[in-house]
Amino acid sequence: MLSKVWSSAMLGIEALPVEIETNIVLGVPGYTVVGLPGGAVRESLDRIFAAVRNTGLYFPRGKTTINLAPADIRKESASFDLPMAMGLLAVGEGDFSPERLDAFFITGELALDGNVRPVRGVLSMAMRARAEGKQGVLVPTANAPEAAVVEGLDVYPIATLTDAYHVLTGGPAAPQLYKQDFKALFDDARHYTTDFADVRGQENVKRALEVAAAGGHNALMVGPPGSGKTMLARRFPTILPPLTPDEALETTRIHSIDGKLNGRGLVATRPFRAPHHTISDAGLCGGGVNPMPGEISLAHNGVLFLDELPEFKRQVLEVLRQPVEEGFITISRARFSVEYPARFMLLASMNPCPCGYLTDPMRECICAPPQVQRYLSKISGPLLDRIDLHIEVTPVSFDELNKRADGEPSEAVRARVVAGRQVQAERFAEAPGVYANAQMGTRLVRRYCKLKEEGQQLMKMAIHRLGLSARAYDRILKVSRTIADLAASESIRPEHLSEAIQYRSLDRDWWIG
Ligand SMILES: [Zn+2]
Repeated sequence: MLSKVWSSAMLGIEALPVEIETNIVLGVPGYTVVGLPGGAVRESLDRIFAAVRNTGLYFPRGKTTINLAPADIRKESASFDLPMAMGLLAVGEGDFSPERLDAFFITGELALDGNVRPVRGVLSMAMRARAEGKQGVLVPTANAPEAAVVEGLDVYPIATLTDAYHVLTGGPAAPQLYKQDFKALFDDARHYTTDFADVRGQENVKRALEVAAAGGHNALMVGPPGSGKTMLARRFPTILPPLTPDEALETTRIHSIDGKLNGRGLVATRPFRAPHHTISDAGLCGGGVNPMPGEISLAHNGVLFLDELPEFKRQVLEVLRQPVEEGFITISRARFSVEYPARFMLLASMNPCPCGYLTDPMRECICAPPQVQRYLSKISGPLLDRIDLHIEVTPVSFDELNKRADGEPSEAVRARVVAGRQVQAERFAEAPGVYANAQMGTRLVRRYCKLKEEGQQLMKMAIHRLGLSARAYDRILKVSRTIADLAASESIRPEHLSEAIQYRSLDRDWWIG
């Protein structure tokens, strides 16, 4: 006797269909699982036996072979418990129809008492089930909201082994379909709990962040402790253009694989990830035997904030280079490699010196110049090369804090950012992979950032007088292009240039000597 049920295995963010064939013949009872099962899949049998016994269901005993096909996909997860249990039950039970078994993708980890535990990657599985033309999915109750995001799919929330049994045998005790309106959920979930209006003063920093948001520029905030860098950073996602439904789905898939949705159906706001500086490169970029997404992928379509940038280990910052450049990360293992999306905006912060108070008007810095230099040299190099804006942050004065008026709300800033992005979208309509000024290569910079005579003089002066490096040149041009876009100006005017030059303070050596 033979039964077939469907589940899926994860490869990166893709769920690949896995067919589970169970065959039983007369003979000495025994169980063989074939088709590259990982450790967790082999342990499944123990959980399945206990769960089936404890729920009073029955499957025949005999010489049993379970085949997970195709054999060349790695299957690591306990999520095969439930579909394997269904396969075993279906072999002995006439109430299952092959058509009904074929109509669903099934996933879930079993507890010994027959309860079903949540698993990772359910959104990707649901998307795959729809792409394969299946009627629906059977998923753990806690994962039902994310599966129900996929339209046109029957989602059965499964709390226990018997729930799944009832669905597949068409019994009257089957659980109700889990239904959700994607548009309503999306509209409901797309609001931020923080706002730029919460930050008093700091108008120049907010302006610089607006420029960063408008042009997709990575930025570094430099300022003494307590000047509000973290508070500003946390509110940065709120001024970025709203997530589109497709971006929301893409981001949710990654969070689903990481098991971090906590019953939410959808991530509809831009994520903000702020890993501590002690993080390992695996934690930051993803890793493990069965590679999981890291912080940079959880920040996909959002913001990665590296607070205290010089404290991060150099090798950890090194691995950021590829994803910052390419928007994805490849994690290689001996027998396979996976790719996770990682297109994020990088926002970093640092103190101006080891004690932190070099640029603080109210306090004295106690660092010797060589100490300051050593501190700054920790962040020099390739990563700094990918940061277009350096933003000086100074503590807010008492007078400013005491002002009654709140700051400008995020919504108003966001509207300008969106308008600026619209200009860029039209400009780069025919440049593949470029969607904002920050992504311009040398050729596009030459084409779209032409300077008139006055501007050229200004640049020449900046390079000589302020000691700006040659590599700062292109970055200044790109940022001034964004500033011009925000002002709806076709040409880059001197005032746009001089604002952009302000945002290169780390090239200037102004704090030493
Ligand atoms: Zn100092």
